[in-house]
Amino acid sequence: MSPTPTRVRHSLILKLVGVSILLLLIVQAAGFAVVHVGIDRNARLQLARELDNDERVWLRLLEQNAERLRQGSALLAADYGFRAAVSSDDQPTIQSALENHGARIGAAATALLDTRLALRAASLASELPQMPAELPLVVQALAAQPQGSQVAVIAGRPYQFVMVPLRAPLVIGWVLMGFPVGQPLADEMRQLLGVDVAVRVQAGASTTLPVATVPAPVRARLLQPGALPLELQAGTHTLLVRARALPAVGGEVHTLLLRSVDTVVGPLRQLQLLLAVITAAGVLLFALGNGAMAQRLTTPLRSLLTATRRLAGGDYSEPLRHTGRSDEIGDLARSFDGMRLEIARQQAEVRDLAYRDRLTGLPNRERFRQAVMQAIAAQPPLGSTPLAVLLLDLDRFKHVNDVLGYAFGDRLLQAVAQRLRPHASQAPDLVARVGGNEFALLLHDADPTRALKAAQTIVQAFEAPLELNEQTVDLSAALGIACWPGHAADADGLLNRAEIAMYAAKRTLSVVQMYDPALDSSSAQTLTLLGDLRRAVEQDELRLFLQPKVALQGHHTLAAEALVRWQHPQRGLVPPMQFIPFAEQTGFVRQLTLWVFEAAARWQAQPQARALGVRVSVNLSTRDLLDPDLSHRLDDILQRHGVAATAFCLEITESAIMDDPQRAEAMLNRLAQQGFRLSIDDFGTGYSSLAYLRRLPVQELKIDKSFVMGMQSAEGDAMIVRSTIDLAHNLGLSVVAEGVESADILEHLRRLKCDEAQGYHISRPLPLDDYLAWQARQA
Ligand code: C2E
Ligand code: CA
Ligand code: CA
Repeated sequence: MSPTPTRVRHSLILKLVGVSILLLLIVQAAGFAVVHVGIDRNARLQLARELDNDERVWLRLLEQNAERLRQGSALLAADYGFRAAVSSDDQPTIQSALENHGARIGAAATALLDTRLALRAASLASELPQMPAELPLVVQALAAQPQGSQVAVIAGRPYQFVMVPLRAPLVIGWVLMGFPVGQPLADEMRQLLGVDVAVRVQAGASTTLPVATVPAPVRARLLQPGALPLELQAGTHTLLVRARALPAVGGEVHTLLLRSVDTVVGPLRQLQLLLAVITAAGVLLFALGNGAMAQRLTTPLRSLLTATRRLAGGDYSEPLRHTGRSDEIGDLARSFDGMRLEIARQQAEVRDLAYRDRLTGLPNRERFRQAVMQAIAAQPPLGSTPLAVLLLDLDRFKHVNDVLGYAFGDRLLQAVAQRLRPHASQAPDLVARVGGNEFALLLHDADPTRALKAAQTIVQAFEAPLELNEQTVDLSAALGIACWPGHAADADGLLNRAEIAMYAAKRTLSVVQMYDPALDSSSAQTLTLLGDLRRAVEQDELRLFLQPKVALQGHHTLAAEALVRWQHPQRGLVPPMQFIPFAEQTGFVRQLTLWVFEAAARWQAQPQARALGVRVSVNLSTRDLLDPDLSHRLDDILQRHGVAATAFCLEITESAIMDDPQRAEAMLNRLAQQGFRLSIDDFGTGYSSLAYLRRLPVQELKIDKSFVMGMQSAEGDAMIVRSTIDLAHNLGLSVVAEGVESADILEHLRRLKCDEAQGYHISRPLPLDDYLAWQARQA
């Protein structure tokens, strides 16, 4: 299955935009991750450095604290009164000096030691209810490094102790002072450096956090037993923890410094967020831009695709779009359009070859058929205008070709096309050459009357002889007409019926013939009768009828015309007009004629007929006349039945003679010599002149029934009959009138000195027995 246009667009856009956006996103995500990790790592490094610093500051603060204590202690040690009191062992003074001094500098414990570092007196602040047990340990540690300070855990709290010698000038004792390592110190750190501080004290099983600047949840976390965390989570914050152990007696003391990662990372994260927003906006813009680009690419591709479909479907009419573009798409579109025009041109050429007759330049049969179909299809269902098809077949064209050559025949056809053209000059009307010597005209808005008129003008145009190569040719043609919608519903039916009409015109020599259903049925029947005809003779289905002829001028020879009938097993009695023309075409008529002749001879040989002495007229057709053996065959039959030739008259039509006058004349001479009476049948319908007929050995002339039947109504017909009779008599011929249907005509003919008459008024053709009965009645 071929892809649909939308699928093409989608797949291309998806590929173009999707892939590039994906790549862009990957790059951006990687960058984002690197920045993210980098920010975190840098923040931790920075915090570690800050915590290093915090740690130094914290220790420094503790150091300063100790220094302050030492100075306070030194002040007491340098006090003259105090020294004197120590020297004098003035216990109350010592005690009050220790108390006063300690209170002044805020010491938690102030003590006087003797030179052997034993406790001589002490003053404790209210927070220390009793002398701490850890004191000896503190003193011991300080004795080892008198310049330093010592942290001690007392009652779960850390205290810093210093020791200063009491000189007079020799060392007479030591002043020991202890201060709590307290909240103020931590608060100061926090204020100074923004670092959180906590002091964790572990004494025995208990862990306390006496000093802390962190909120309660963090405190709880710091109090959990076990190793101290390096990092801990407080809500959304991550805290880095730096633990510093302080050497202490009476327990473990850790200073914990805490800094939040987020305070460092926060601003950077905001920057990163901004970066992400910018990236997203960038990706969006990129997608839009790429989409527009892809659209610009795929839209023309799609229209090219639909254009190729149109071309494949045979529609070359629509020019391609995008040919104005200056890019590769434009090149492609232009090249496609060039291809379209070229194919269209070739198609037109091929169509022209297929639909045009090369010789005359007229449309051919197929084109004509299509034009008729289109004309019918274009009709609105109501109020349609009638159409007419005229089919014209040139007479004797084969003869022209044979005698004058094919080149001449071609010229003749071209000349005919030339003559026909003006008769269908208005646009939708059409002249076509639909066969070797067949031409057709399609006339729009033509009802039967108009079509007949048009046919008549064509016939007139054909009357002028054609001058070709200094030869003069008489054109003649048979013209069949069929009209839509009366005669057929579709194009093929219409053509078919025009052809039937044309053949009927040929058959009846009527030049123009309008289609009539009767023609159709007769021709259809003719076709089915063809196969049966041969069998009819073999199976004895033919019947001989006789139609009486009566003498009008006294003499009393009996005469009758032999007319054949076909007693068809299914169709009944078939009239000769439905099979004689076909028999003539196929040549079978020769057997038919012999059958009639033999039947007539057999009848005449019978005693009843012989007694009557009837002269029987038998019809001969062209084929019979051109058969060189005709006279022998007839003689043969006469011999067999013992009948004389003088008992017969042979009727020959003018046209039968004119088809090949020389051979016909020779045969007629032989037949006349044999003793046959000869008659010119259907006189008046052909073109032969009496002057010519005079040369022939004929004795009788039969005036065609069309003139006889029209005698009373048409003045012209009566004139023709009268002059024919006169002329015939002048030439010494006897005249028979056929088609006498009334007593008036019979009387009229008698007055005109016509010799014999034949017609329904006298009798219809009769079976042989009926004929004998009829004769008996006449007598
Ligand atoms: P045709 O030789 O001109 O025969 C005369 C035809 O006119 C006959 O028609 C006859 O029945 C008819 N006819 C006679 N009187 C009248 C009349 O008063 N009014 C009218 N309207 N018609 C009349 P049919 O028998 O149908 O024969 C038609 C044609 O068939 C004949 O015309 C002839 O050409 C041909 N045909 C008939 N029998 C034979 C035959 O045995 N051999 C040959 N070769 N042709 C035959
Ligand atoms: Ca006849
Ligand atoms: Ca006749």
